[in-house]
Amino acid sequence: MELEAHFAQLFINNCYVTCVNQTKLSVFNPATGDLVSDQIPVAGPDDVDSAVRAANAAFAAGSEWRRMTFPERQKILFRFADILEANQEYLASLTRLTLGAPYLPFGQAEIATAIGCFRYYAGWVDKFAGQSFPADDGFYKIVRNEPLGVVAGIIPWNGPLASVGLKAAPALAAGNVFILKPSEKTPLAAAALGKLAIEAGFPPGVFQVLLGDGSTGALLASHMDVNKVSFTGSVATGKAVQVLAAKSNLKRCTLELGGKSPAVVFNDADLANAVQWCVNGLTTNSGQICFAASRVYVQEGIYDTFIAAYRAAFEAKRSVIGDPDAANSQLGPVVDKAQYDRIMGIIENAKQEDDGTLLVGGQPLFSKGYYIEPAIFTDTKHDASIYKEEIFGPVVVINKFKTEEEVLARSNASKYGLMAGVFTQDINRALRMSSSFDSGVVGINCISTIHFSCPFGGTKESGLGREMGVNALMAYTEPKTVLINLNY
Ligand code: NAD
Repeated sequence: MELEAHFAQLFINNCYVTCVNQTKLSVFNPATGDLVSDQIPVAGPDDVDSAVRAANAAFAAGSEWRRMTFPERQKILFRFADILEANQEYLASLTRLTLGAPYLPFGQAEIATAIGCFRYYAGWVDKFAGQSFPADDGFYKIVRNEPLGVVAGIIPWNGPLASVGLKAAPALAAGNVFILKPSEKTPLAAAALGKLAIEAGFPPGVFQVLLGDGSTGALLASHMDVNKVSFTGSVATGKAVQVLAAKSNLKRCTLELGGKSPAVVFNDADLANAVQWCVNGLTTNSGQICFAASRVYVQEGIYDTFIAAYRAAFEAKRSVIGDPDAANSQLGPVVDKAQYDRIMGIIENAKQEDDGTLLVGGQPLFSKGYYIEPAIFTDTKHDASIYKEEIFGPVVVINKFKTEEEVLARSNASKYGLMAGVFTQDINRALRMSSSFDSGVVGINCISTIHFSCPFGGTKESGLGREMGVNALMAYTEPKTVLINLNY
């Protein structure tokens, strides 16, 4: 695919502009290892300043964006969703070039999340009304939900458009202005969004895109004229972002970080259902999803049966791994050489250290590209890194348990708390477990799934704050209390 000029530019104030900073990044196709572009710009201090200036002008009192009526703002968000939908195959092809996920199922699904977010939050624009309290004591009270101003969205590479929907849609619906900083590994779909934002009718400075790497993210996170940073990525970077935010202007932070989500399968579970959710929850996007079902615990009574069925479904996935552009491929390579080397290194280390039994997989696939055969490790050591750490690749650890108490303790003995799943026919046990899991989301007879209307995010080191639902609107607004004295 020949890339047009704007893929090497920044989108500031409704114009594609040349990056002042001269540093360029390269991106590669993980299916082949071939160079896609060596002209990806890295927005530097001057570029970030100019986007932040445009954003503040767009948010200034009396600006076109601030004067808009609710129906006018809604119309833009709905139109943007329609435009994303009309362009979904094109946008997915841009992401696929450097992420490697086939269009079906993941490429389409991650864009559907973005489209759904813009529609969901467009519906909220005229409904996020604030509160009022009667003048029982002579003071009438109004609580307004006021937008924060300039929001920076710093996102990872694994769901480049879904992440835009999760952040930009609620931020804009609440009346903020938004600067997107995509990952340096998957910048192309983000670069295409500028044209679509103009078509949707966003006024200049309301939706901007700064391509770049961690240095660009750090400039935004530490900028004195940015009011909020919404970050999705690794735990280490999330902590660094919060420090930058605190050391600058104490800008508000939402952090969506990593996970090592447990799926707990009891003897009485519907086996086919449990296997289907657990296998899909691990292999989707080649294991590169934050809420992957990467730690599976199976009760001893069905352990052998489950392992046999899980392994069969897992090996069936092997036959749909291939060229992301081929019609029969459902799974592609991992995102790049660094990720490939990291995952293969973790697998090799676990083998060498005897950290568990490698039941199947873990081999490189094909002669070119960064393909990994999904791997199952069983009976893993509790202190092994493969058991404790997020791998963010197609590797699962499966262990046996006896009792509910034991499995709850093991599930919660993790620094992560993004998602957990329980598979059982016993509703009392399911609800008991849902209360006891230390995680932001719990699936009963399902895992690794989210819904627009419900908050999504993690406890412990999986994050801070929530996305989705009304919670995201709260995270992009500051409540302001107005007290009206009726006593004089
Ligand atoms: P990453 O932390 O390396 O990078 C994320 C983003 O931060 C990128 O845009 C990067 O350029 C930027 N960045 C890097 N250093 C920065 C700094 N010092 N200051 C500001 N920005 C900086 O993460 P990644 O490898 O892109 O993504 C994988 C991670 O994301 C995994 O841990 C995964 O679990 C997590 N993730 C979480 C969720 C969730 O919702 N909880 C969703 C998807 C991915």
